[in-house]
Amino acid sequence: MTSNYYISTDRVASSGGSSMDLLTCSICHNLLWKPVACKTCENSFCLSCMDQWLETSNGKTCPNQCQYEQRKCPPLMLQLLSKLKIKCQCQKNGCQHILGYEQLELHESTCDYQLKRCSGCQQNFLKRDHFQHEQQCGQIKVTCERCQTVYEREQTHDQIQCLNKRQDNMQKEINLLKLQNMANERTIQQLQTELSQVKSKQTTMNAPFQLSPQPAFFPRPHPPASFQRPLSSVFIPSPINHLQNRFSSH
Ligand SMILES: [Zn+2]
Ligand SMILES: [Zn+2]
Ligand SMILES: [Zn+2]
Ligand SMILES: [Zn+2]
Ligand SMILES: [Zn+2]
Repeated sequence: MTSNYYISTDRVASSGGSSMDLLTCSICHNLLWKPVACKTCENSFCLSCMDQWLETSNGKTCPNQCQYEQRKCPPLMLQLLSKLKIKCQCQKNGCQHILGYEQLELHESTCDYQLKRCSGCQQNFLKRDHFQHEQQCGQIKVTCERCQTVYEREQTHDQIQCLNKRQDNMQKEINLLKLQNMANERTIQQLQTELSQVKSKQTTMNAPFQLSPQPAFFPRPHPPASFQRPLSSVFIPSPINHLQNRFSSH
């Protein structure tokens, strides 16, 4: 993905003796920016313009209708571009800087005369004034540290509002805890049910060993009640044993 960055030719303060026609992209008609060239016709275009062109055309021909094969921009072209002196795009806001082609992008990304929007009143301010404005703008949102209420700086947030809000917050927390408690109780019930199922399975498995082996498909008779030993005398391996101890104490 290439960024769309356009430098209008009227921002060129000095062309260094070159013809501007030569240094203009025939797709966007602005100054060539990060140019690439067509191998066939040798014309140069901005890289971002060419990417867009290939996306919308069939992706095979250059604007001059020749078979497009991308190559690097000729070094001579880059040399001519590097001789240009260009006005900062923030000149309309008061920036007086005139920069070389290679220095332009970095300067403009940090220029103090860029406009920045205030997150409160949504008005634009020069970057250098923006911070100070946001420190005092009445429409900036602030958060009360005690009750977490978010309000605009120029609105009031008095002690009674704050207390009411904190009470609301506490009530919400209590309701949440109650819900959690109900869920915990359901889990305990479920575990108790599972435990009693495990207990009855254990009882079945601990029935006395039968001397006459039964065929696998033959249903194994349920042991008579007299053969079932009380659960407390049955060895139950940990952790079931552990669980059982926990619950049998209730
Ligand atoms: Zn272009
Ligand atoms: Zn071409
Ligand atoms: Zn500037
Ligand atoms: Zn503001
Ligand atoms: Zn508060």
